[in-house]
Amino acid sequence: MRSYTLIAPAKINLYLEILGDRPDGYHELAMVMQTIDLADRIHLRSNGTDVIRIHCNHPGVPQDKTNLAYRAAVLMTKQFPNAFAQYGGVEIEIDKHIPIAAGLAGGSTDAASVLVGLDLMWNLGLTQSELQELAAQLGSDVPFCVTGGTAIATGRGEKLAPLPDLDKIYVILAKYRHLEVSTAWAYSTYRKQFGNTYACDTQSIEARSAKVNSGCLVSAIAHKDNAKIGECLYNDLEKVVLPTYPQVLQLREAFQRTGVLGTMMSGSGPTVFALSESLDRANQIKKEVANAISDPDLDFWIAQFTPSGIGVAN
Ligand code: ATP
Repeated sequence: MRSYTLIAPAKINLYLEILGDRPDGYHELAMVMQTIDLADRIHLRSNGTDVIRIHCNHPGVPQDKTNLAYRAAVLMTKQFPNAFAQYGGVEIEIDKHIPIAAGLAGGSTDAASVLVGLDLMWNLGLTQSELQELAAQLGSDVPFCVTGGTAIATGRGEKLAPLPDLDKIYVILAKYRHLEVSTAWAYSTYRKQFGNTYACDTQSIEARSAKVNSGCLVSAIAHKDNAKIGECLYNDLEKVVLPTYPQVLQLREAFQRTGVLGTMMSGSGPTVFALSESLDRANQIKKEVANAISDPDLDFWIAQFTPSGIGVAN
C-alpha cells in the first residue's frame, strides 16, 4: 500500500486574449496565468484492487468517471498498463477548497495532481514535458497546473513559456456562492458576438501572439512593477460575462472603487479578483467590498501568488 497527499493550487488569469478560431474548433489564446495558494488537497492511496474510485467532500463535484481527476487516472492506466498491473487501483479523495465552476481551474489542478501523484506512486520518473503532454490530453489548463508559477500560455493554453516569479502580491477573490458560469457558454458567446473581429488565418494569429507576448503585462512582470501589473490586467471574456451577469459587473465595480492595484474577472468567471501588496490592505479591501455589496451569498478568499505548481505534502 502506498499513499500520497498532493497540494493542487488554483490559478488566476492575469491576461486572457482570444486571438481567433483554430481549425480544431478551439480558440487560439494568449494568456498570462498565475498560481495562487488557495489549493485543493488530493489523497491518493493504492487500494490493492484493479479499480479507480473517486470521492470528494463537495456535493457539487461529480464523483464518477466524468470527474477530471478520475479521467487523469484512467489516462495513466492506459498509458502505463504495466505499472497499473503491478501497482493496482487507486482511491482518489478530493478535499475541495477551490470554488467550483469559478474560472480558477479547480478540476484541471485536481487532474494535474493525479498525474503527478501516480508518476510518483508508480515510480515512472516522467519529465515535466512528458507530464505536460499527458496533461494536454485532459484539458487546456491542465499543463499549466502541472508546473504552475507565472507563465505565458498560448495555443489552446497548452503551450507554456515561464515568466519570472512574482512575490508578495496578495489576491482578494470574491464569488457569489450559487453563481456558476459555464466555460463553454462564455467562449461560444464570445465567438458569436466578436468572431468577426479577430484574425482567421493561422499566420496572422501567430503574428499577433508574438506581439502580445512582448506586451505591457509581460514587461511589467519582468520589472516586478506591481502597479503596472495591476494596470495591465486584461480578460476578453469580461465582454460577454459582465453584461450577462450584472452581479459580476457590480462586484468588479465595487473592487475598482476601493482603489486596488488592479481588478479583473478570472478565466470565464464568475470569480472576480483584486491585487494588493499587503495583507492588511487585502483585508481592508475585502471589508469595503463586503460592506458595499452586503450580500450573504458573496464569499471571499484571500490568497497569495505562489511559484509552485503541484506539491507533495508527505
Ligand atoms: P477553468 O478555470 O479551467 O475553466 P473552472 O474553475 O471554471 O475551470 P471547475 O471548477 O474545473 O471550473 O469545474 C467545471 C465543471 O467541471 C464543474 O461544474 C464540475 O461539474 C466538473 N468537474 C469535473 N471534475 C471536477 C473536479 N475535480 N473539481 C471540480 N469540478 C469538476
